[in-house]
Amino acid sequence: MVTCDACYCESPHKDFVLNPDCQHGYDKECYGEFLQDILKEKGMSMAIGIKCVGEGCGLLIAKSVWKAILSQKDFKRFEE
Ligand SMILES: [Zn+2]
Ligand SMILES: [Zn+2]
Repeated sequence: MVTCDACYCESPHKDFVLNPDCQHGYDKECYGEFLQDILKEKGMSMAIGIKCVGEGCGLLIAKSVWKAILSQKDFKRFEE
């Protein structure tokens, strides 16, 4: 089990979404909310520049994270 830094609940590892370059992440639910909020605010075109949630971490959120969070339809838009 992994503890989510956002909601402090424990989730099985498979429900956790990690940024592969730095291993920072939240569970799918929290990460999803976080990313969807940003998308609503800034739009899909800004998604590519969004940084990792880790404190002091400047890495970009990896594509694999977006793929795990977004619906297939949204991810397609993201890739364009
Ligand atoms: Zn959480
Ligand atoms: Zn990070």
